[in-house]
Amino acid sequence: MRRVAVLGLALFLAAPTRAVSQDAPNIIEAYNRAKQLVDRAVAAHGGIEALRSARQMRVRFAGDDVWRHQSRAAAPPYDREPHSSELFIDLEKGRLIVDQQRSYPGGIHRSFRFVTDGDKSYFVNHRHRTYTVNDYPRADTQINNLYALPQLILLDVVDSGRRIRPLGRMKLASGAIVDAVVTTTANGPLTVGFHPETGRLHCTFGIADDRVAGVSAGETEFLDYRDLNGVMLPTKRVVSVGGEITEERIYADATPNYRSPDDLVRPPAGYVEFTAPAAMPQVRELAREVWMVGGSSASLVVGFADHLLVVDAPPSSAAATLKQIASLAPGKPIRYVVPTHHHDDHSAGVRAYAGAGAKVVTTAGNKAFLEKIAGTAVEVIAGRRVFSDATRTVEIHDIGRNGHANEMLVAWLPAEGILFGGDVIDATASGIIERGSNNALTQFFDTWVRARQWPVRTYADGHGSVLDSAAFKDLLSRPVLAR
Ligand SMILES: [Zn+2]
Repeated sequence: MRRVAVLGLALFLAAPTRAVSQDAPNIIEAYNRAKQLVDRAVAAHGGIEALRSARQMRVRFAGDDVWRHQSRAAAPPYDREPHSSELFIDLEKGRLIVDQQRSYPGGIHRSFRFVTDGDKSYFVNHRHRTYTVNDYPRADTQINNLYALPQLILLDVVDSGRRIRPLGRMKLASGAIVDAVVTTTANGPLTVGFHPETGRLHCTFGIADDRVAGVSAGETEFLDYRDLNGVMLPTKRVVSVGGEITEERIYADATPNYRSPDDLVRPPAGYVEFTAPAAMPQVRELAREVWMVGGSSASLVVGFADHLLVVDAPPSSAAATLKQIASLAPGKPIRYVVPTHHHDDHSAGVRAYAGAGAKVVTTAGNKAFLEKIAGTAVEVIAGRRVFSDATRTVEIHDIGRNGHANEMLVAWLPAEGILFGGDVIDATASGIIERGSNNALTQFFDTWVRARQWPVRTYADGHGSVLDSAAFKDLLSRPVLAR
């Protein structure tokens, strides 16, 4: 009986395999299927010359940044802030310039220009009125900027020649259906999706390693093509991670056949060169067994008699900080890790600390979010929690709902006069106060602190700045700039 059953199963398995292999394309057929899709797209975009004209183009964008994991609340819907930018592409001269204005929740504004001119490049901070010499890659390899134009994506696909392969019909996390092609361009691997009806480029997509959600779909979609000053461009570009939108850009204006004026690649008049201090120290001791560890993504590490407490857990520096901590205070385990707020640049490192045995401490609104990252239960505090033993006292306080986050903790060390917060001080990591450093969140923080009448001697922030009370006063005396 058993032998018959096994034989029957073998026949059952063999039959469909043979049928499938008869239909399967060989490598030439697979390539031809991909080439059909690419050729159709080139035609739908007006031909190869129309694509090449995007190598000389100026485009103005409007729209929103959608602050996923950077909003006031941990759960969606996420806060939106207006974004405006201008992209100047002049590849004939090896030039690429991006000028952008964006804001974070809580009245924190950024206004930058990134300039690449042949083999020279620099960064402009409009609010500081400074520029800093930099080392950006060549203009024609800056795909993060160039791929704002679907024409330049398609050109790279065409130039990748025989490396294109079809992936078949696929469904995006957004719900859209595309005919997908994968290739390897001069700039690396690339997966694109074509609209089944129009044949136009609909998206680039791939697998993103999201620091909160883990392995997720990452998609950039080009929607509702139209004629804009004689150029076929999408009405908007939507970027999403795991189906959650992170960016919505409107193509507001375009100038084809763009020739960049030489003025554009010079630092704006009146701006001064800013040279950042050579090496940012990775460990700074603020008091005995009180350390700031990790440059501009810092944690406050506080020693108690037989354990440590860590405030803020930036994911980018968590592993290095854990290693540093082991040599700063050998034998003392990290018992608690307290992110100042849920924003992922302050909190997503908790997974590493939880793995090292630390208890994650947060407020009620961030419980679910942090348990998802940490993969374990967290401790919830309401308003205030005091950590104390014979050697040390650290008070953790929620400064309350503000424009940046609904719940936000600060750490106060009364004996040492040290106050640590996250995002509350917008000076540079090396502590330099610039034009535009004062903002609505810093003012909220200052008002809250002054009401406590604490004798603060040192103000420290998770992005690295450490100011004495005179420097903090200087920061607060600066005007708050609108944008
Ligand atoms: Zn934040």
